[in-house]
Amino acid sequence: MTVLDTLGRPVRDLRISVTDRCNFRCVYCMPKEVFGNDYQFLERRALLTFEEITRLARVFQRLGIEKVRLTGGEPLVRRNLEQLIGMLSALPGLDLTLTTNGSILARKAASLRQAGLGRVTVSLDAIDDAIFRRMNDADFPVADVLAGIDAAERAGLGPLKVNMVVKRGTNEQEIVPMARHFRGRDVALRFIEYMDVGATNGWRMDEVLPSDEVIARIREAFALERMPVSTVGETAERWRWAEPGVAGEIGTISSVTKAFCHDCNRARLSTEGKLFLCLFASRGHDLRALLRGGASDAEIAAAIGGVWQGRSDRYSELRGRAEAQPGSGERRVEMHYIGG
Ligand code: SAM
Repeated sequence: MTVLDTLGRPVRDLRISVTDRCNFRCVYCMPKEVFGNDYQFLERRALLTFEEITRLARVFQRLGIEKVRLTGGEPLVRRNLEQLIGMLSALPGLDLTLTTNGSILARKAASLRQAGLGRVTVSLDAIDDAIFRRMNDADFPVADVLAGIDAAERAGLGPLKVNMVVKRGTNEQEIVPMARHFRGRDVALRFIEYMDVGATNGWRMDEVLPSDEVIARIREAFALERMPVSTVGETAERWRWAEPGVAGEIGTISSVTKAFCHDCNRARLSTEGKLFLCLFASRGHDLRALLRGGASDAEIAAAIGGVWQGRSDRYSELRGRAEAQPGSGERRVEMHYIGG
């Protein structure tokens, strides 16, 4: 069954946040001043259990979901995550992926693969150790993340995606070194525009480096060839290295300068089981109450289908206009909670 929202968009891709906790304090995502030692993360009993997550994934599949991406927070800090991966990978026909900061990937890659994980995306905002440590604000060395990337490749979790959020004035000098580092490897290196998610990162438009500028800078160092669009709903514009036989590709995700809401087919499930229809939403729909209130799969499917059919969100296309702003007093949810 395919359900369509008010703009004719199906639901295909489900992002599931498995924890709101993270061992990094990236300056643009979970700034230390806000997410300090006394920050109240969700209590354990508030979190969806693995059984609840798997049940919802199965219900979502009936509505059209083809892909599940586990995220967070840092998904690898959720205890026994391999068990959840085992349960989800048993759902027939589901493409199962995970986004991680890579900090404990070297240790976990083999067990994740063994549990049934298909691929991973690793976030990496700099290749220079000092800049990387400044960005993650947890003094975490880049070498450990690079070891995680190597381990993931060895474990068969490829082709890997490596995502770099570019913040003007902070890590823009890392664009070309990152391209140079991954050129020739079977890795899709993607540059992501810094977004105004949540309400704690003090986002400013002048800190966004437009993707066109990112590509122009790489082109000063290397020749690139534009690749055709391969799937509907693909968020990245893609380039390959022009020199024949050089492995890897470059992608840009221009969520700010070239919004792609018109074919957004993503739903997001927060750590405590709220369904969000947009990364920039301020309110979610409580599915945990249905799960714990004894609703049947058919009732849950009907509830989700009804919510999706009413969806009209297109925040990024409306950004800056009054109609894009949430109602008075409402705060947009934070990325670590809703899942990136
Ligand atoms: N901890 C995991 C990780 O680091 O990939 C998963 C969660 S993290 C919230 C997912 C992605 O969101 C990361 O690549 C992160 O860089 C990105 N992100 C967080 N805040 C962002 C923002 N304001 N603009 C663009 N990307 C952002």
